[in-house]
Amino acid sequence: MHRPTVLDKQNWPDKKPRRKNRMGVGLFILLMIFNAAFIAFNVSSSQTEANNNLSSVETDEGPTFVPTQTARKAERARSTQSATPVSFQSSGDKFQLTGGYLEGKEVRTLRLTVQSSLTFSVCRIVAEGQCRRLAAHIARKLSWFLDVNKDIRKGDKVDLIYGNLPGQVGLKIWKLKYYSGYLDKKLEMNFFKSLNMNYGSYFDRQGKEVISRLDSRSTPIRNYSEITALPGEMRRGQLSGHAGTDFKAEVGTPIFASFSGRVTRTNWNTRKNGYCIEIDHPDKGVKTLYLHLDKVLVRPGQRVKQGIKIGHSGNTGRSYAPHLHYEIKSRGRKKTVYNPFIFKYHKKYSRTISNQHRKEFDKAIRLYDSLLQAG
Ligand SMILES: [Zn+2]
Repeated sequence: MHRPTVLDKQNWPDKKPRRKNRMGVGLFILLMIFNAAFIAFNVSSSQTEANNNLSSVETDEGPTFVPTQTARKAERARSTQSATPVSFQSSGDKFQLTGGYLEGKEVRTLRLTVQSSLTFSVCRIVAEGQCRRLAAHIARKLSWFLDVNKDIRKGDKVDLIYGNLPGQVGLKIWKLKYYSGYLDKKLEMNFFKSLNMNYGSYFDRQGKEVISRLDSRSTPIRNYSEITALPGEMRRGQLSGHAGTDFKAEVGTPIFASFSGRVTRTNWNTRKNGYCIEIDHPDKGVKTLYLHLDKVLVRPGQRVKQGIKIGHSGNTGRSYAPHLHYEIKSRGRKKTVYNPFIFKYHKKYSRTISNQHRKEFDKAIRLYDSLLQAG
């Protein structure tokens, strides 16, 4: 089950998530429509159903409105604003960044070859106290590409740009480049956030998002800012046995049944799990679990259809910050869990940087490249 760690806590920004549900004021609604329009414009999703001809577009923030004429104008105005050149100043091994979402950020670069383990290699260079956290952070990112418990090998190469975010507890990885000898593959992820994006994400050099999203039909949650853990990943430099996927989301975010099935139990072991739901899906050979909820809207024995709302996400039980812990367990083999991004019944998609933001994106990539050269 969920084993929160120090890292868990450190990974969460301490600023309060934005409240979006309680809008009653007309002006706020207007702002929301604008905001939604910006997001809709920002990403050209490769998901088939996200098509401009539809009346709603699936984005970061769940279904949103198609931009209006006024919103388009405002969007153009904003995108000129964001054309501030990005650059950096160096002082020793630290770099001060300027421009766009990088304004005022202090970052460091790290280049290493993996020796006996990733943690060992990072700790040879980075100060004790931070190195384990950093190694776990790298592993967490790598778990999008490979099996961190098997595929990380001696001789692998890491190029990294990272830093501490001001006013937040925790590390931020801006760019990770990894050469895996075992897979004989170069892996790369670059953080990017344009002014009109609510949450940034990680993209490869071509502008394809490397972090996937579950399609809206089967996703247990639509509105989340980040995935902070995948099953079986490494934490604090060690295999955690974390069985679920953690979606960071504010308390009260709607949670949906991933697939049709029957609710087998709710609210067991609440000290650890908080308010929780388990649904049985015999046709898929799995059970799905939803932990740390704020509210449970179903009862044991109840049949639920795919996509219906079953509860609200929360921060109950052993949880350090608002998030949904979502788990897919095999019915037959007790210890087997599935990564939702690999599980065959979950369709997934990722986004691509739109032409409109291509220049801004390329600029960020060039900045990251020059930082790594200077470092
Ligand atoms: Zn979890």
